[in-house]
Amino acid sequence: MTRKVDELGRIVLPIDYRQALNISEKDELEITLDDDKIILRKPVVGCRFCQSTASLVQIGREHVCRGCIQKLHDAKDGEVIFPAMADSL
Ligand SMILES: [Zn+2]
Repeated sequence: MTRKVDELGRIVLPIDYRQALNISEKDELEITLDDDKIILRKPVVGCRFCQSTASLVQIGREHVCRGCIQKLHDAKDGEVIFPAMADSL
């Protein structure tokens, strides 16, 4: 299959490919250049707090693993959890 690139550098992803990978309008795709290939793929989703990819729950647009949900649940008033995130938030 070939597709033409438009004047802004865009191409249309074939609908059957989008359906096969469950890609919806406004979804983000990761783009990488690999020698003579441009690779598009759905980003690997990880926990917002620890980047784990296991046992994720989606909260709005974010994903949180069950382990971090438990930490949040068990946190005491005023306690600092996930201190490594303090600089990134
Ligand atoms: Zn986590």
